[in-house]
Amino acid sequence: MHEFSIAESILEAVRKELVSHPGARPTRVGLRIGELAAVDVDSLSFCFESVVRGTEWEGLQLDAQVCPQRRICNDCGKEFAVVEYNASCPMCAGCNTTLSSGDELDFDYLEVETGGTPAIEVKGAE
Ligand SMILES: [Zn+2]
Repeated sequence: MHEFSIAESILEAVRKELVSHPGARPTRVGLRIGELAAVDVDSLSFCFESVVRGTEWEGLQLDAQVCPQRRICNDCGKEFAVVEYNASCPMCAGCNTTLSSGDELDFDYLEVETGGTPAIEVKGAE
């Protein structure tokens, strides 16, 4: 199950991030998913909930954002987000464009709580 292994790798990323924040409790984790990554967000959220259930991180929220695919125009160099599968360049209307992103699966941010202080956002793993 694709989404289940993604959920586990998110937890793995959280675990690594927390090494530099001892005593912190993760409250929310952000993920960026390219629309071409073929990830079902609902099913990923469901898998994520079941992976954290019964662990010390029960209640950890997953904030998964689906990002549109982006292309670069080979004629004028413009990078643009694809709207409704229209892959031609909005600047020069050329069709000579290359995919620049859209199948990514990135750990975006992690929000943690430490000893009763409000949640703070710590930078992602990259
Ligand atoms: Zn162009």
